[in-house]
Amino acid sequence: MKLIYSKKYTQYTRLELMEKVSAQMSKKRFTHVLGVEETAIKLAQMNNGDVEKASIAALVHDYAKERADEEMIAFIHSHHLDEELIIFGNNIWHGIIGAELIKLELGIHDEEILNAVRKHTTGDMVMSLLDKIIYVADYIEPNRRFPLVEQARKIAFENLNEAVKFETKHTLEYLIKQEALIYPKTITTYNTWVATVNRHLNK
Ligand code: GDP
Ligand code: FE
Ligand code: FE
Repeated sequence: MKLIYSKKYTQYTRLELMEKVSAQMSKKRFTHVLGVEETAIKLAQMNNGDVEKASIAALVHDYAKERADEEMIAFIHSHHLDEELIIFGNNIWHGIIGAELIKLELGIHDEEILNAVRKHTTGDMVMSLLDKIIYVADYIEPNRRFPLVEQARKIAFENLNEAVKFETKHTLEYLIKQEALIYPKTITTYNTWVATVNRHLNK
């Protein structure tokens, strides 16, 4: 892929950023990250989004996914983050804390990129185009395999807002079937993007 960064958002070239990210995770997860990047770039192109920001946000979105729980819990304490976070585990921590680690360790300070990382797991009531691109690309990238993924891909390439809705609905359904703990923001995202009463807000 020929994507040359402007240096506005990161001091690194794309290849250097890829190296920094791959050093943080297994080969398998890095393959996922590259799949998210490829998909995010496509979605950005189709929706008049910023391709460079889509690439950077995708490359860093799971930066903290393999950090030790103890380190993440220590971070929650030392940075005075909400202690309620602790019970939710890394699935919820890695986006929120990941954004802070990306700032500290990679020197990426662009709030639009950091917000896309913060929101990539749960979505949010308010989502920018970049937030939606990363949230959806993470769900449908080519290495994902689950029964609804083909349908999710088809919707994503037709209508990004509908894809946010589809993903939010099916993730919540899946979590409830697993009797998983639901992070409050996941419910807020559902109420905003899925619940019929609020649908006009996202049209
Ligand atoms: P990944 O990092 O590429 O695996 O993908 P995500 O960051 O989107 O999600 C990580 C995991 O968190 C997935 O298994 C999601 O289903 C799960 N997840 C999303 N929302 C919630 C939630 O509210 N509660 C819990 N317990 N897990 C969630
Ligand atoms: Fe993630
Ligand atoms: Fe991911």
